[in-house]
Amino acid sequence: MSKKIKIIRLSAMMFAVTLLLSVFVLWTMDVSMNSMSELQAVSDQYLQEQNAISSMREASDYLTMQAREFVVTGDLEYLENYFDEVRVAKRRDAALEALRADNSNESIPGALEKALQYSNELMQIELQAMRLAAESNEISQAEIKNYLGDVVLSNEDKALTRQEQADKALSLMFDETYLSYKTKINEEVYDGLDTLLEASREKQDAAFAYSNRLLLWKRVLILLMLAAFLAMFLTNAVTLIVPLSRSIKYIQKNEKLPLDGAAEYVYLADAYNNMLEKNLKSQDKLTYEASHDSLTGLYNRKMFEEKRKEFAGDNIAMIIFDIDHFKEFNDNYGHEMGDRVLKKVSTALVSCFRNEDYVCRIGGDEFAAIMVQMNPELKHVILDKVERLKKKLLVEDGLPEITLSIGAAFNEEAVEGKELFKIADEALYRTKERGRNGFTFYSDPPMEGESPRNSEGL
Ligand code: GH3
Ligand code: MG
Repeated sequence: MSKKIKIIRLSAMMFAVTLLLSVFVLWTMDVSMNSMSELQAVSDQYLQEQNAISSMREASDYLTMQAREFVVTGDLEYLENYFDEVRVAKRRDAALEALRADNSNESIPGALEKALQYSNELMQIELQAMRLAAESNEISQAEIKNYLGDVVLSNEDKALTRQEQADKALSLMFDETYLSYKTKINEEVYDGLDTLLEASREKQDAAFAYSNRLLLWKRVLILLMLAAFLAMFLTNAVTLIVPLSRSIKYIQKNEKLPLDGAAEYVYLADAYNNMLEKNLKSQDKLTYEASHDSLTGLYNRKMFEEKRKEFAGDNIAMIIFDIDHFKEFNDNYGHEMGDRVLKKVSTALVSCFRNEDYVCRIGGDEFAAIMVQMNPELKHVILDKVERLKKKLLVEDGLPEITLSIGAAFNEEAVEGKELFKIADEALYRTKERGRNGFTFYSDPPMEGESPRNSEGL
């Protein structure tokens, strides 16, 4: 029994394994979520940085535009706009600040700081151009003091005519130097953008590779979980479900259960088998006791009645034996001696008849034999048996001499209202009448003065 699988232990182990695997799956899911958020953060950061760079470029272009407008028109509104951007909006500084906050890639602020530096240098040109424009447009010092108060014109510029000042201002804003600065600013900005894109791509690639590894782990874990479930189901099926459903067949047939499967099942099956064995034995005992005589072991009266009815229409012979003066054995030697006599007669009777015949004890000292496949032509067979019986009873064994009165009849001789048992009993009665220790066939002619027995049975 100890070698058998204990299904409870195995199920608990498998449950623990599946639980552990489930925890791992949940963990990989959690990590996946984090890696997804990381990926999202990388994309968001890229967008923010891109916005910052765009804003920087827009601010730079805006300054150029306002400065040029002022130089061309002399309208103070443009000057105000210009300084609003420089002093209030400060988009370029804000963008650079935002990019600096991301320390992960230092080369981006580096490139863009250069762009800002070029932009500031450009500003000096713009301020000078705007100062010249203010001069050429004869705008009062008071009006520009707040904006261009610090910009000082060289003596050379001061000496120029209004038109020359206007021309120079225009030239400063549109000449090669100015344009080359604009180009340099754009180059630095694009350079920054490229670096940014590359860095983001690297981060994304790393995050994707990590996600893929997690996905692989998740697949492996789920497959292991499925395998554990399958193993759990198969073990249960093989060791429990199959033996259980198979046992129904054996129980219906009242047979013992095979002792294979899980230890728990084998324990139950073994207990069932033991109970079944005990039951069958006591059933056999009850059946035997109900049909046999306890003293002699012969069939009892009940069985005799059953067989009489069963063979009622068959070719059978019935022989009835009665021990002569049996009462005297009891009276003279005691009841125990009487029992020994009964047993001796029983043993002798059984040894004289075939296995297919029925030898029964039908009363205190009365016995009957039902012989199957018999007809009146076979009377000699019965006579032979009677002779053998007599000889067996004569065997010396310390018991007093035993003699029997015997009567026999064939089913063929029975007529309506006088069935076989009655006529065999009548034959026995005649033997008793004739002085006992003898044998009579019912068909033997009655002796003079003899009358048939007028009784209903023994
Ligand atoms: P007969 O020659 O006319 O047959 O006379 P008998 O004495 O044999 O017949 P009777 O019917 O008067 O006696 C049968 C006796 O058998 C009566 C009873 O006490 C005795 N007896 C019945 N059953 C048993 C038994 O199981 N054991 C013993 N020892 N005696 C029994
Ligand atoms: Mg008797």
